[in-house]
Amino acid sequence: MMWKAAKRVIEKIEQAGFEAVFVGGAVRDFIIGQPNNDVDIATSALPAEIKAIFSETIDVGIEHGTVLVLDEGEPIEVTTYRTDGLYTDHRRPDTVTFVRNLEDDLARRDFTMNAMAMTRDGVIIDLYNGQEDIQHKVIRAVGQAEQRFKEDALRMMRAIRFSAQLGFTIESTTLSAIQSLAEQIQYVARERIHAELNKIWTSRFPVQGIAMLRQTTLNQFLQGTFVVADWKSFQTENPLVGWAYFYVLNEQEAFFSYYKCSNKEKEFAKQVAEAYGKLQAGWQVLDYFYYDIEVLNTAFDIALWREHEIALSKHEIALKKAQLPIATAQQLAISGRDVIEWAQKKGGPWLKTALDAALYAVLTRQVENNKEQLKEWFYDIYKG
Ligand code: ATP
Ligand code: MG
Repeated sequence: MMWKAAKRVIEKIEQAGFEAVFVGGAVRDFIIGQPNNDVDIATSALPAEIKAIFSETIDVGIEHGTVLVLDEGEPIEVTTYRTDGLYTDHRRPDTVTFVRNLEDDLARRDFTMNAMAMTRDGVIIDLYNGQEDIQHKVIRAVGQAEQRFKEDALRMMRAIRFSAQLGFTIESTTLSAIQSLAEQIQYVARERIHAELNKIWTSRFPVQGIAMLRQTTLNQFLQGTFVVADWKSFQTENPLVGWAYFYVLNEQEAFFSYYKCSNKEKEFAKQVAEAYGKLQAGWQVLDYFYYDIEVLNTAFDIALWREHEIALSKHEIALKKAQLPIATAQQLAISGRDVIEWAQKKGGPWLKTALDAALYAVLTRQVENNKEQLKEWFYDIYKG
């Protein structure tokens, strides 16, 4: 358990004469009563002091004051209390200054629910009424909202992402600040936007994320259309599915590079869009063979989310897939070498055509998948 390892880390830092507390998402989620799988620790000790205390550490962001401590193999992030200097590029502070008191560190955090700390024995330090905001389910900027979003425009996306994850509303001053600064989202690296969108796709209330993107007008500064009604029933645990759906709703190639999508995301989305396009007419045996089950299931889900009438179920999709005579082209009982031998011809483009025909004949059960039968099929039917 993370908390236990993290408690040991805090104890060791305290024994060395420094302060250390839990901070950030783990404290927020503890108050909300939901699990969080990374526990962050903030400390008055400097990075070098932390490294002197623990035998196993990894520098993950030492310039920001973060050291990864490996406590009995469990990695725990320990970050020195710090304040941020000026943000001239709207993304990251020009300088960070390490400080010795927690209050200054909490003041640099984005939202009241994320600006709480907790001691090793469970005392909550809550200088911005984060607990009360959690109780009222609101996301509120720490300090002056406009200034906080001007410093770091990514916080605008984070506000929306948290509202989708938690089902919280954005407090009105905080919301107005985002509305007036929305265009500054262009300062944020697309990779960061991609990461926040991933969290919106896989959130509990994705439709709320889309609604908030519109309400804040952030959508006007992002590529693609965000239509609330499209996302009403959408739900997934897999960010790939979110990108596939977003692509089906937009169908613009340019969008993959704009959002810095990986090849895997792009390929999956394109396959899903293709399979989805064929679904109205009904999938044939070749479609069941060619598309992965995840692709078929996602295309089917999209049809449901878009309220198409489809006489099919996930169970039937799985059954169709399982009942295929062969699952992959490698399972075909003959090879190119066999066909060359039978045809007494040199290899060439004809060979692939013949093998494809054999594969099709097997998949449609015109012939059994064994060498003798395929040889007969080749001489009697294919070759004529
Ligand atoms: P999650 O549960 O999704 O990890 P989190 O709140 O822990 O959410 P992190 O990105 O892990 O988010 O950041 C940890 C903490 O660091 C936040 O809770 C917040 O206090 C602070 N933080 C992170 N990003 C920012 C930012 N852009 N501006 C200000 N504070 C931030
Ligand atoms: Mg976190």
